[in-house]
Amino acid sequence: MKITEDFVETMLCPACGGRMQLNTAADAIKCRACRRVYQIKDDIPDMLVEHATIEEEAPAPAS
Ligand SMILES: [Zn+2]
Repeated sequence: MKITEDFVETMLCPACGGRMQLNTAADAIKCRACRRVYQIKDDIPDMLVEHATIEEEAPAPAS
């Protein structure tokens, strides 16, 4: 079953319980709240918190 935007809208982030959004370009599901990114492999989302990466809002300034 192909993962659709509607399906992702019904999901909650396993890390924080926030709303998720589908990133079709990256084949990933991203949490709007904590910005964790869950990869989708062969139409199966990997919802393990340990596997998620956190997308930074902006590159951190070099200090
Ligand atoms: Zn989250």
